[in-house]
Amino acid sequence: MITKDQILQWLEALAKSFNENKDYLTELDAAIGDADHGSNMSRGFHKVREILPTVADQDLGTIFKTVSMTLISTVGGASGPLYGSFFLKASATAAGKEQLTSEELGNLLQTAVQGVIQRGKASLGDKTMIDVLVPAVGRYQEAIAREDTIQEALFKTVTTAETEMKNTIPLVAKKGRASYLGPRSAGHQDPGATSCYLILKALLETVK
Ligand code: ADP
Ligand code: MG
Ligand code: MG
Repeated sequence: MITKDQILQWLEALAKSFNENKDYLTELDAAIGDADHGSNMSRGFHKVREILPTVADQDLGTIFKTVSMTLISTVGGASGPLYGSFFLKASATAAGKEQLTSEELGNLLQTAVQGVIQRGKASLGDKTMIDVLVPAVGRYQEAIAREDTIQEALFKTVTTAETEMKNTIPLVAKKGRASYLGPRSAGHQDPGATSCYLILKALLETVK
């Protein structure tokens, strides 16, 4: 079970994490993009943290919908609408809920990832967020099906996310700005895959 308090802690922790990792993400984006992923994510989740208290007494659906709208209006670039879709789909799954079972969290993550795929049309191996999200959430579902606890399942999720984040290094980008570089995008870790890892890692740290 994951409670609303834990979800709120997770979302707040993301403001801190993206503030701490701002320069790191910007350096990654400087190599194959336009050097703004750190500031985009940091600005977005700073605003989320500001707005959260105004919806903290609402259901999880409303909370995630607010996160989605806030990210869409403050992050910009490619990642704003993509993370906006992630949290919009999450909000539909969490509508009317005050807490989530481990299965419900799995459904929420799975649906959220589908939102990113529908919006960005990336496939596995295109050197995007998808390369972390799909295998990591798959790992979560597998673990829960084997009756792991939520903590155990999220630990495996984050381990997979970290590996797959590093596995984006040799890939040639097929979507987004990095794809303009063609083969020269190889040899660099994808910024969006890295922010996905940070989001999942913060979730694990919240339920620990
Ligand atoms: P921009 O490229 O517009 O400056 P950001 O720098 O904030 O936006 O985000 C770049 C990240 O967005 C990339 O590293 C990649 O992971 C992700 N991305 C770009 N296009 C797509 C897509 N079509 N599907 C999934 N992720 C994508
Ligand atoms: Mg960028
Ligand atoms: Mg940009």
